[in-house]
Formats: sequence, structure tokens, C-alpha cells
Amino acid sequence: MSGVPVPIRDADALARAGLVAPERLDAIRRVAERYAVGVTGDVAALIEHPDDPMGLQFVPRAEELETEAEERADPIGDAAHAPVPGIVHRYPDRVLLKPLHVCPVYCRFCFRREMVGPDGLGTLSAAEFDTALDYVRDHPAIWEVVVTGGDPFLLSPRRLRAIAEALAAIPHVRVLRVHTRVPVVSPALVTPELAAALRAFGGAAFVALHANHAREFTPQAEAAIARLVDAGVPMVSQSVLLRGVNDTAEAMEALMRRFTENRVKPYYLHQGDLAPGTSHLRVPLAEGRALMRRLRGQLSGLAQPTYVLDIPGGHGKVPVGPAYLERDGEAWRVEDPQGTLHPYPPPAGDASVD
Ligand SMILES: *Cc1c(COP(=O)(O)O)cnc(C)c1O
Ligand code: SF4
Repeated sequence: MSGVPVPIRDADALARAGLVAPERLDAIRRVAERYAVGVTGDVAALIEHPDDPMGLQFVPRAEELETEAEERADPIGDAAHAPVPGIVHRYPDRVLLKPLHVCPVYCRFCFRREMVGPDGLGTLSAAEFDTALDYVRDHPAIWEVVVTGGDPFLLSPRRLRAIAEALAAIPHVRVLRVHTRVPVVSPALVTPELAAALRAFGGAAFVALHANHAREFTPQAEAAIARLVDAGVPMVSQSVLLRGVNDTAEAMEALMRRFTENRVKPYYLHQGDLAPGTSHLRVPLAEGRALMRRLRGQLSGLAQPTYVLDIPGGHGKVPVGPAYLERDGEAWRVEDPQGTLHPYPPPAGDASVD
């Protein structure tokens, strides 16, 4: 690529940027009719080839036109738990609040790819937003509000501040969490005003940063993260296990080290959801578990994510191992990071509470 990278919004712009070969352009145009395309200038600068870890995340491929039998439009069953527009309430103590459906980039593996996009359902109207807030207000068990989308960091700091203040006024909401990809894909949007908007919540306002490869941590991205953390915003990570992006122990270890070095505590590594047209990016669970086992042996505990699966149908997220403990009659066998099993005696009465 040459010149200053600009945002890319369609198949022809990808071709002009040299990211789609002319003979593939027709297929990629068909993909773009079905799923949103979006690459920020910052990300375009990091793509050296459509098959590299950055290209695979953001450049559409013809494989996306193939939907597997097990794939579904709503892979994690959000619709089954949406009492009012913009709210997903699956667990008693926390809800998702989705004020908008646009993103700065459109990830090719997105689990909400049927919902997000520049002309998707758009932004919640003022009336819908009030109804969503009423829902939170009326449910005292809601302790945490997870603001997601779309990408909430595309909202103006003024709008984000209004949301933070509205939630702060609900006494039972003690924790705010905002999920975003902006600090790595469009770091200039992370302004001091944005950090201050989060702080307007008053209590614990976390940011969960979605990144999948060490290469996303450019100096600009690291500075954006520092603007949040230095402002007193604690951060956690979120990544998706992706074929060709981070499916080796080396790539995953480098990614988790970058998060930790930047004061972002590794939180979740997601198994790829069964979103339509994403099978070429999914990694089998057995491989994911083997990768996690290698990380356990070679990476600081501080940098370990939990490997989770969102159960299709809306049944929630669960850790999927690997497991280090197995039954041995009344006792246990526990496996060390190198794979050797060791006996562990049962405490009195342990056998009855398996
Ligand atoms: C992922 C998710 C959450 C947050 O889950 P944590 O395990 O607390 O990170 C909350 N609600 C819904 C509906 C979710 O899908
Ligand atoms: S930023 Fe998140 S919601 Fe938006 S396309 Fe990527 S994975 Fe989907």
C-alpha cells in the first residue's frame, strides 16, 4: 500500500487499496452486500496482505458466502433475552445496554454481524433509550450495566457522559463496563474528554478492550490505552480465538503480554461464535484447549485469560477448560502444566460433593 491510509467502506475501496485482487472483486462485492465492510485508516496501515493476521480480521473473503448448517443469525441467543430494545438481560446481576449498532471496523468473525452495520438498526431513539433506562431502574438486581453495541466509543463524549450520569443516578447500578475496539482501531477518538465522560459515572467504570493480535498495539493505540488507565479507568481484555490470527501459542502469548504490559488485565478468550459465514476463522475446541494448556505452562498468571464459550441458544458463557482435575475413586488426580498427573488426597467428606 502507498500513501496515507484512508477509511475503507466498500469492496471497490478495498480493491483500490490493493487488498482485493481484481479477479476476486465480484465475489467480495457480493459479500459486502450481505455483511458490512469497514476498515479504519489506522487498521489499513497494519494490513500487509489479506491473509495476514490483520487482513484476516477485516478484509472480506469469498468464504463468507458459505453458511454452515450449524451457524445462525443470532449465535448467542440475544433475542431470547431482550425484554426491551437495546437491553439483553440473561444473568440476574447484569445487562447489556446497546445504544448503537455501528462500529469503526467490521470484523469478519463478528457474532452480531447480522445486527451491526452502517445502516443496521442505527441508534436507539431517545424514547427507546428512556425505556431501556426504565428497565434497569425497575430491576434492582441489576448491579452492572455492560454498554456495548456496536461500539459505544463512537458516541460523542457528551453522549457517553449523559449515559454514564443516567446510570450513576440509579443506586443499584454499581459497575459500568464499556466494550470497545476503538483504542486499537481508531486511537485518536480516545480523548481526555472521553475518559472524563466515563469517570462521570463516579463508581467503578471499566473498559473492556477487544483486540486479537499483538500487532494492534501500535504506539498510538498504547497511548490511547494509557489515556484511559491514567484517568483512573481500569481495563480488561477480550479476544476471539481466530484461525490464522492468534491460533498459535506464540501469537496468543504475545497478545496477552501486550495487554498486560499496557495495564489491560486479560479477561476472556472467546471461542468463535457460530456466526454465519465464519467457519474458515473458527478453531476447534480441542485445539483451543491445547493452546490454553501451553499458555498455562509458559505465561504469567497475571496474563492468563479465561477461555469461554457462549452457549448457542442464549444459555450463557462458560469456561471451557482445559481441566486439570479428574476423579480417581475417592481421591483426585491433578495434571501439572507439563501434562504429568499427580495424586491429590480427598479431604474428609469430599467424595460426597462431586
Ligand atoms: C457476555 C454477556 C455478559 C457479560 O458476561 P460476563 O461473564 O460478566 O463478562 C452479560 N450479559 C450478556 C447477555 C452477555 O452475553
Ligand atoms: S467491533 Fe465488535 S460488534 Fe463491531 S464488528 Fe467487530 S466484533 Fe462485531
